[in-house]
Amino acid sequence: MKNKESALVLHSGGQDSTTCLFWALRNFKEVRTLCITYGQRHSLEVEVAQQIAREAGVPFQTLDASVISRLADNSLTNPEIAMDAEKPEGSYPNTFVPGRNLFFLTFAAVIARTYGIRNIVTGVSQADYSGYPDCRDTFIRSCNTTLNLAMDEQFIIHTPLMWLTKAETWALADELGVFDIVRNKTLTCYNGIIAEGCGHCPACKLRNAGLKEYLEIRNCK
Ligand code: ZN
Repeated sequence: MKNKESALVLHSGGQDSTTCLFWALRNFKEVRTLCITYGQRHSLEVEVAQQIAREAGVPFQTLDASVISRLADNSLTNPEIAMDAEKPEGSYPNTFVPGRNLFFLTFAAVIARTYGIRNIVTGVSQADYSGYPDCRDTFIRSCNTTLNLAMDEQFIIHTPLMWLTKAETWALADELGVFDIVRNKTLTCYNGIIAEGCGHCPACKLRNAGLKEYLEIRNCK
């Protein structure tokens, strides 16, 4: 049964947040999306997110937070830095944008509050990623408490993908009936190529390996 409340989904137009958008549509009465830009290399992301929101029939809002990328250098926003293909030993790949999810969730909470929304949905996962600290469950719980205290609200941050591998995220999209939309219309690739992408950037490798793994399971059913 659907929750009678509304939800705000942090949506970037990628595989994970798009799966979260459809998860939210199944679970909440009303859904709206927030697409935060922070000087990513490809503004195409915003167009993709907007198109998906339109197809899903939900309100779409963008927020320019490019100040985030001016605070510290990272390879997602600075084209002069070559992206790490692998996670360096004992560190994070240079695609790490320090503070990103802390900023995102804070902005989302303030915006959600203006709409009287307390449910916030984000596609972070600690199971299958590069180990970014602000994708971990501990951080999300802590951030949730802090936002509640900061605004005297009862926000609930939902992380449907937190413990899912990439293959399991594909399975969830399939279960939600949006496998083809996620496969063909989302943009995960760091080089700005929709669907299966360039095939060799870290995001494509992760996405395509998960897809391959899931398709093998799917084809055996
Ligand atoms: Zn790629």
